[in-house]
Amino acid sequence: MKHLLLFAFLFVAVPAWAEKFGLVLHGGAGTITRAKLTDKQEADIRAKLAEARDAGYKVLENGGSSIEAVTTAIIILEDSPLFNAGKGAVYTYDGQHELDASIMDGSNRNAGAVAGVKTVRNPILAAQAVMTQSDHVMLAGSGADAFARHVQLPQVKNSYFDTEFRLQQLEKAKQKMEAEGTSFNVKNSDYKYGTVGVAALDKNGNLAAGTSTGGMTAKRWGRVGDSPIIGAGTWADNNSCAVSATGHGEYFIRYHVAADICSRKLYRDQPLTTAAREVIHDILLPAGGTGGIVAMDRDGNIAMEFNTEGMYRAWRLSDNTSGVAIYNDEMKSP
Ligand code: ASP
Repeated sequence: MKHLLLFAFLFVAVPAWAEKFGLVLHGGAGTITRAKLTDKQEADIRAKLAEARDAGYKVLENGGSSIEAVTTAIIILEDSPLFNAGKGAVYTYDGQHELDASIMDGSNRNAGAVAGVKTVRNPILAAQAVMTQSDHVMLAGSGADAFARHVQLPQVKNSYFDTEFRLQQLEKAKQKMEAEGTSFNVKNSDYKYGTVGVAALDKNGNLAAGTSTGGMTAKRWGRVGDSPIIGAGTWADNNSCAVSATGHGEYFIRYHVAADICSRKLYRDQPLTTAAREVIHDILLPAGGTGGIVAMDRDGNIAMEFNTEGMYRAWRLSDNTSGVAIYNDEMKSP
């Protein structure tokens, strides 16, 4: 009887323990080379990526949801001036900050997004509130900020997002735009990295993804990139995968990058890394789109693919694999 009980216990309990969980995150992709970062900058960035990763992982380890892990990690990156999201977001042409964010719950395909918000301190929480406290998927501009106030999310002055580093980037970008006689800053890939995003899988097998950004330096005319567009910058579906993207947003929208990776996995039964590689290297790059993604599937596989010199990234899984990487010659998709 004792043996029978032990057998029954192992049979029921082990699969639950064996369930893989974890998360993978990015802090933006672009022309990130060793020559461009000082040792101190590199160390600070690696430490912040690890901090966000471990905070998100702890949520999962304690049985929290993938949505909670995504918001926990993203808030840490939004609050850090090192990334182009929340504090430290890039400037618009007019010297302001307009922030975009989105989140998606793979268990039910609920989603929320905000575009062009100026006063909510953590845009990812506004995106989450749109998902859980409104009948909508996307709110934009002053209406989205009003909604964030309505649901009592912490507000800040737009100048809270200011940093000297990003101001200098704006000045350089404006000089370049003037020299080129253009009112758009889309070709200037040096000035747009630092977007943050997470894909996570929790102990219940639920996937989620979220993305937050200040967009592109010197953006104008209410420009909105891929980060708040469900299917382009963010996607999560338990049947396929969860993806957060970063890069030249216009291309990620046109090629529907996040959802395309998951569709390939679903319809073609491709492994996650194969699907991600094809989209990032074989489709996006020839089209002229630079950037990358982090992704996770229901079996706990992760992918980190980019076609730029670098992508800030970190991962941690329940099988004890973890890491932080920046450059092309470091760990990419396993
Ligand atoms: N994808 C973002 C945008 O186009 C920028 C980035 O990820 O660096 O707004």
